[in-house]
Amino acid sequence: MECDMEPTGLAGADASQGVVTGRYSDVMMPTFGTPKRVFVRGVGTRVWDADGGEYLDLLSGLAVTSLGHAHPEVTAAVNSQIATLGHVSNFFATPAQVSLAERLRGFFDPSARVFFTNSGTEANEAAFKVARRTGRPRIIAMEGGFHGRTMGALAITHKPAYREPFEPLPGGVEFVPYGDAEALRSAVGPDVAAVVIEPIQGENGIVTPPEGFLAEARAITREHGALLWLDEIQTGMGRCGDWLSSGSEVFEPVGADIVTLAKGLAGGFPIGACLAAGPAAELLGAGQHGTTFGGNPVAALAGLAVIDVIERDGLLQRAVELGQRLTDGVSALGHDRVDHVRGQGLLRGIVLTEEIAPAVADAALDAGFIINAPRPTVLRLAPPLIIGEAEIDGFIDALPGLLDAA
Ligand SMILES: *Cc1c(COP(=O)(O)O)cnc(C)c1O
Repeated sequence: MECDMEPTGLAGADASQGVVTGRYSDVMMPTFGTPKRVFVRGVGTRVWDADGGEYLDLLSGLAVTSLGHAHPEVTAAVNSQIATLGHVSNFFATPAQVSLAERLRGFFDPSARVFFTNSGTEANEAAFKVARRTGRPRIIAMEGGFHGRTMGALAITHKPAYREPFEPLPGGVEFVPYGDAEALRSAVGPDVAAVVIEPIQGENGIVTPPEGFLAEARAITREHGALLWLDEIQTGMGRCGDWLSSGSEVFEPVGADIVTLAKGLAGGFPIGACLAAGPAAELLGAGQHGTTFGGNPVAALAGLAVIDVIERDGLLQRAVELGQRLTDGVSALGHDRVDHVRGQGLLRGIVLTEEIAPAVADAALDAGFIINAPRPTVLRLAPPLIIGEAEIDGFIDALPGLLDAA
């Protein structure tokens, strides 16, 4: 797996972390702040920085690289497709795109139709347009919810710091407290197009709703003919131990009218998908939405490879088992700065008793573990589904030292 070749286009450049970070700050918009590391290579659960430092990747590039880095099947799929036919636009079809759509429909609903995008936010834009086509003016979203940064996705995203600099946003959106079925029931009426919910709120800190909430949301939306739109961009595609939460063995199977996917869908190759079932599948008509890159055959074949490997290697079950191992191991530490661990499968939040999560994440990085702090009291772990027991245990062993250092 070693590769001595200089990546194309970088020949001769000084690529030390310090130099690249300086150039980054000069040339990149400051949206992401100063990067903490410059990475140059990854294999499996490991990545290396430009100065040779090695890390255990417990974040998967934000729940994306489910099969780890440079997975042979994904690499082969991308290489073979780009070398055969890399792009045709949506004037035309490719077998890869149709096959991936069929697989996704199989996880969701036999009546579902698929619209492919390049990202999660765009998948939600597509769903937003489906919702608008009901002709109903209102959309109910959740407090604490995150759905992306384009204007439509931002309109259903709750965080004021993300929204306010860009107002006015598309209208008709109202927020109710996440997990509050009574509040949802009061908000939904015959003028509601859709209710959009994350089965677990990832960016909000791996917040899980009370048991029964998704089923209640299904019942309420059905009663009023509103669409139930589950944003499974972070939770879906095996991350939580099943393909989707909507027809799940690990979640309560509720069914939905719309599901949006991205992140883990093609193991790191950019792709998103909006799936709509039943009458919702027919709402976007010819010419009413479009994309140049969406459904690109390289991304689609990468997605098919990811699905095949997850099935072949039993990684849904592994996600359940290892997520439990992580939760049990961290809980058993009995550390006074750990309150509890929440989440499903390999999407886990370690909830701390103090606002030290960013400092702990920094200490972890220095110690060779990639995690992040979606909020000041929560550490997020979303390791590749291929991670091993020993790697999980290694992090658990290191955690007390990281917590004490912060
Ligand atoms: C990451 C995320 C998005 C946005 O996806 P992008 O690919 O970053 O546009 C939307 N919804 C949820 C739940 C997410 O976790």
